[in-house]
Amino acid sequence: MSVLQVQDLKKTYGKIQALKGVSFEIPEGAVFGILGPNGSGKTTMLSIILDVLNADSGSYSWFGQPASPDLRKHIGSLLETPNFYHYLSAVNNLKITNSISGRGDAAAIEAVLHKVKLYERRDSRFSSYSLGMKQRLAIAAALLGDPQILVLDEPTNGLDPVGIMEIRELIIELSKKGHTIIMASHLLDEVEKVCTHVAILKTGTLITSGSVEDVLVDEDIVEIGAADLEQLKHVLSNYPGATSTTFNAQTIQLHFPKGTASAEAMNRYCFNNGIALQYLSIKKKRLEERFFELTNN
Ligand code: ATP
Repeated sequence: MSVLQVQDLKKTYGKIQALKGVSFEIPEGAVFGILGPNGSGKTTMLSIILDVLNADSGSYSWFGQPASPDLRKHIGSLLETPNFYHYLSAVNNLKITNSISGRGDAAAIEAVLHKVKLYERRDSRFSSYSLGMKQRLAIAAALLGDPQILVLDEPTNGLDPVGIMEIRELIIELSKKGHTIIMASHLLDEVEKVCTHVAILKTGTLITSGSVEDVLVDEDIVEIGAADLEQLKHVLSNYPGATSTTFNAQTIQLHFPKGTASAEAMNRYCFNNGIALQYLSIKKKRLEERFFELTNN
């Protein structure tokens, strides 16, 4: 079941085409990363699906229905860092958020503070919080009313490594508790660590979308090494099925169409040709590598 379906969305700002007909869907329970370089249209996309901005054309539906105030109750969002009062505590800041948005109640405030692990510090002034804690409070505000879906724009922007880790753990935790999370990011490592699905945008065009596994694993890579690398090179020069070969200082990498590489067959082939392998490993492409391949073409 998909929570969001986006169909051929287009948006221009004057002469700039920010979205050029983007379609994808987000399955329930996913941590869905919208990835793309600066200016690729991520914030525009999030603003449209949150009804903050109108698309020029195309459509989207939440749970198979067009956006409506009732459906919006199921979606918590964090597009910009909220302006919390520095001299007020987390609880009092959330009371203000609650009185403005009407989402949640006193019990909900306690519950969200537990969820983002700020309950122990609920009475401390906002000004005493680390950047990571401030961001967790912002996510707590988005969680008021217990929305099933959480939309976050660059949730780790500006945080130090500890803050980034805190937010990463929180996102994984929220996902385990049943929230579907949609987040824009340009931090590939981040997305690879927390997301189950991705959509990659480049100057307003969707390059690919799907499960992280499917997007990453577009081919099989087998890396092997032997004492005599020159002989190994020679033996492998006609290895059946390999689409390309790269030579490193200590190893050789052979690339195969997805699902066709066999470590066992390669090991046997080398052995039958007089080579005992010292090293053999099936490698997964890193998202970073794949992202640059996709966005640089
Ligand atoms: P970033 O990672 O830098 O936040 P992004 O992927 O979120 O970028 P958008 O902010 O959606 O990208 O911008 C997409 C394109 O639309 C960019 O070229 C941007 O300059 C342009 N754009 C965005 N908002 C406006 C606006 N209000 N007026 C004019 N152009 C805009």
